[in-house]
Amino acid sequence: MNKRPEDQPQTTPSNRTPQPAQTNNQEKPEPSQKPVASPDKDSGSISRVKKNKGSSNGGSSAKAAASTQSTPFDVNSLSEKEIESLRRSLKRYVKGKPTRRFNPVSAPAMILQGFTQFVKIICLLLAAAIFLTGGIGIGTVFGYVATTKPLPADLLKSGTQTSYVYDIKGDIMAKFTGAENIDRVYIPYNTVRDTYIDDAFIAIEDERFETNIGIDPKRILSAVVSALANSGEATHGGSTITQQTVKLITGDDQRSAQRKVQEWYKAVMLNQQLTKWEIMELYLNLVPMANSYVGIETASRAYFGKSASELTLPECAYLAGVPKSPSTYNPWTESGRRNGMRRQRIVLNKMYEIGKISLAEYRDALETELVFKKDTTPSAATQINSYFTEYAVSMAIKDMQERNDYSEELARQIITGGGVKIYTTMEPHVQEALDQTFQKQELFAADFSRVVNMPELPEAGMAVINNKTGAIAGMQGGYGDKQSNLVLNRATDIQRQPGSVTKPINVYAPAMEMYKVTGATILDDKKVFLDPENPEEPYPKNAYYPQYRGKMTLRNALKISNNVPAAEVMLMIGVDSSKYFMQKVGIDRTDDSASIAMAMGGYETGMSPLEIASAFTVFPTGGLYTPHYSYTKVVDSQGNILLENNPSYEQVYRPGVAYMMTKVMEETVKGKTSNFPYEGSAAGYGMLTNAVGETIATSGKTGTTDEDVDKWFCAFTPYYTGAVWYGFDNRIKKQSVIGPDNEGAKRIWFDAMRVIHAGEPPANWTQPADIVELKICIHSGKLASYSCGSGNAVSEYFEKNSPLTPQSVCPIHGGRPITPFGAAKTTPVVTESTTTGAQTSPTSASENPPSNGVQPPTTIATGPDQVVPSEQQLPAEPTNQPVEGQPIMPSTEPLP
Ligand SMILES: [Zn+2]
Repeated sequence: MNKRPEDQPQTTPSNRTPQPAQTNNQEKPEPSQKPVASPDKDSGSISRVKKNKGSSNGGSSAKAAASTQSTPFDVNSLSEKEIESLRRSLKRYVKGKPTRRFNPVSAPAMILQGFTQFVKIICLLLAAAIFLTGGIGIGTVFGYVATTKPLPADLLKSGTQTSYVYDIKGDIMAKFTGAENIDRVYIPYNTVRDTYIDDAFIAIEDERFETNIGIDPKRILSAVVSALANSGEATHGGSTITQQTVKLITGDDQRSAQRKVQEWYKAVMLNQQLTKWEIMELYLNLVPMANSYVGIETASRAYFGKSASELTLPECAYLAGVPKSPSTYNPWTESGRRNGMRRQRIVLNKMYEIGKISLAEYRDALETELVFKKDTTPSAATQINSYFTEYAVSMAIKDMQERNDYSEELARQIITGGGVKIYTTMEPHVQEALDQTFQKQELFAADFSRVVNMPELPEAGMAVINNKTGAIAGMQGGYGDKQSNLVLNRATDIQRQPGSVTKPINVYAPAMEMYKVTGATILDDKKVFLDPENPEEPYPKNAYYPQYRGKMTLRNALKISNNVPAAEVMLMIGVDSSKYFMQKVGIDRTDDSASIAMAMGGYETGMSPLEIASAFTVFPTGGLYTPHYSYTKVVDSQGNILLENNPSYEQVYRPGVAYMMTKVMEETVKGKTSNFPYEGSAAGYGMLTNAVGETIATSGKTGTTDEDVDKWFCAFTPYYTGAVWYGFDNRIKKQSVIGPDNEGAKRIWFDAMRVIHAGEPPANWTQPADIVELKICIHSGKLASYSCGSGNAVSEYFEKNSPLTPQSVCPIHGGRPITPFGAAKTTPVVTESTTTGAQTSPTSASENPPSNGVQPPTTIATGPDQVVPSEQQLPAEPTNQPVEGQPIMPSTEPLP
């Protein structure tokens, strides 16, 4: 960072001694040529004045000075113009004071100097802290200082370096150079050095900025005195520009004694680490400027339609007044502008008072009318960032902020302008497939003529997770080409009702984990009245099939996605357990009061495709969940790792449960597989195949919300999990999906996932050792006999050790079981008496299904069966831990 070379003290000795008559004349600024009484109303004149500010030794001013030279030094004989020149000369002398840098000072001297200064500071901090808290010990103050997090001095200096975003192969996806950052334009101090913006801020915020030690004891003292006089409430703050910069860096604005002491300490340290002008640069770039604009360049463009480097004195004075209370001085409101003009005069007055401007400049500025106009030229940001890039960058900013206690603005500047490298998890072949899919109009509207006149066109969002790593492999936030930056990302930012798509993760898998159900559990789809608000009204109803379908296995209930069985199972496990398991897969709706409606995906707060996809990865990974992430690391220009993401797996479900659920969810993409007369809700698409037609196992779940407002499909293979939301943004009015577009989410999912898997080997699920495959009868859920008939006998998967694994033959048809007794383990480790679900075991549930007399859901959560399962309640401990962070690998065995 350059100091102001032209502001350095002139070498003429007389410049430092009070004989300024000659030297001041050489520095006489141009405005002195103009008669003060007739200021040029054209703001351009101020502009011209400003341009000479930094180059005071220019020939013209020297010449001008010659004409007003006077010989003997006599203050009384000086003209007003000469006094102004004198004032400016002195000011420049002060301003040119070398900034404090660590380097040039010898080490012992530095330590000594640092030590004495430290002692002084500690004394000051102690005095002030004692006052603030009504008495705390010196140890406490030292404690506060010792626990102060250091500021990232190196990163702070790098506001305009190019940052790069890479895909998983190491190819550049995007680059950022501060200026391309939307609504945040970082400028080096040099850019505005020749304007009055720094002078204006110094005058109004911190008049001793150039000489203080980062904090201003005088200011603090006067704040303390004013607080004493006002029974504890200081009438003004004691914050220097350096302290304000610290606040802007850390985002801290708490008023505890500890924070205050730490802020002081940090300000003093910052003053040691950076030059005054580096601090000013940070301040000018971080300062809030109303209307959520941040930084002086952004504000200048927004309010005056020009770059900050072209700001005139009156404009600088206006802007410097804004940060004190951005909403009060917001120039876009009538009252804000009036307040702002009033404050502008105060700023100008102060600038004149402390010698930052001449009387002529002061008067000229007062007479200049401010012209507010917005910059209508296109922003410097021509680069449209992809949804993935935007998301990964926003996550890096968020993590930078949270993990380091930085302010959002600072984190943003480090990530997008700090010369960092962001290594994302984007897999190019996945992303390209999504990009192509989201260009296909026919996937979004089977008959475009039917939607073209709608207020909005159908939209979609899709997220794909790599099951091996839990990382986001690709995403698409909307149909067609992305038109600008920071538009709605429907993969990550929407919160739509999930409908039935959540049934596997909020009802069925939790119930399997709690030994309440298996795929063979018989559930009764019949008229029930489970809405306590409307006890006369049948609830829930079915979305796909308006009629009730009677008794069926859990597998078949999920296959056609009807609602009563899901509600029935929700009653078995309780809403709290459901929330517990959702929270375990990254969807925390603990405070959601939706109750039984959750079984049908009716939440107060909806979900994004990313959340749903990530939650479903728990199945192909054998019950393991790791939170999703979009980048693996962020490193600075020196190669230091600033941020890092590694998968951190937690066993949410037993591997057997994950497998059983996965096998049940295969039913969704299948047609008729038995005497059960319905097709899966995603039949017609089927299992994925690779480019040569080999099968890649596919399991999933559809979802639809009331009136066909939202369409969901989430499905996974051994390789990837993808979730799609399809519908209308509903910004204008609520719009239902029409006709064949009910398939929208599935069409999009299959179109993209087929391409994504084209090059993968065939794959099937790996069956855990404790899983046994049995033939059961779809009418009883018990072991199928030869009397059941082949159309009623189907394969189902059970845990050998589970008390729910069928041990008896079908009571409806009787006869000899197809699978011999003893195929499953006959001595379960859990007996009925130790299973919490004994009273509502699936068998009894199917024999005595809940009917009209079923307890209202409000009482469910308090029942003994509905508490979140503890370790004591769960018979088996998870043992299948991942090896070196790798979940179960997809089997490459071809399907039989
Ligand atoms: Zn049978």
